[in-house]
Amino acid sequence: MNKNQKMARDTLFSKGINPSYYRIVILENILKNPRKCLKANELYSSIHKNAPTISKATLYNNLLLFEENAIVDKISFGQDDVRYCLNDGKFYIYFRCKQCQKMYRLESSWFSADGGMIDGNRIERMHIMAYGVCKKCLQSELGGRYEKVQV
Ligand SMILES: [Zn+2]
Repeated sequence: MNKNQKMARDTLFSKGINPSYYRIVILENILKNPRKCLKANELYSSIHKNAPTISKATLYNNLLLFEENAIVDKISFGQDDVRYCLNDGKFYIYFRCKQCQKMYRLESSWFSADGGMIDGNRIERMHIMAYGVCKKCLQSELGGRYEKVQV
């Protein structure tokens, strides 16, 4: 058992979930990329390499179980863009670039600094969705303008 498999097993145990082979494999793949939010089909492709017998139904059922137990957060930018991210207890802003369609998970220090309290309410999970233009696209936009100025 590698480090991520052990962590997956321990996480499942701590939530009172039976750590079956598939559950460990699925969670291990999420733990491998703790800062990335993966679509179910991306997760499926990566899991399928090591566990070719896994079905999509098994994956979806377990993702739902993980979501219900606050192991993962399901982030949806509409029907076509649903992703799963590791819930590490921090609050994030999920930002999607309207130009390159990439999604970024940005740490929201301004909120977690307050201990997750808003107006006396204890907030345990929060998904802030943000839309705009990412750093990379802004740079290439500015780069384009700069070239025009040069001409
Ligand atoms: Zn972009």
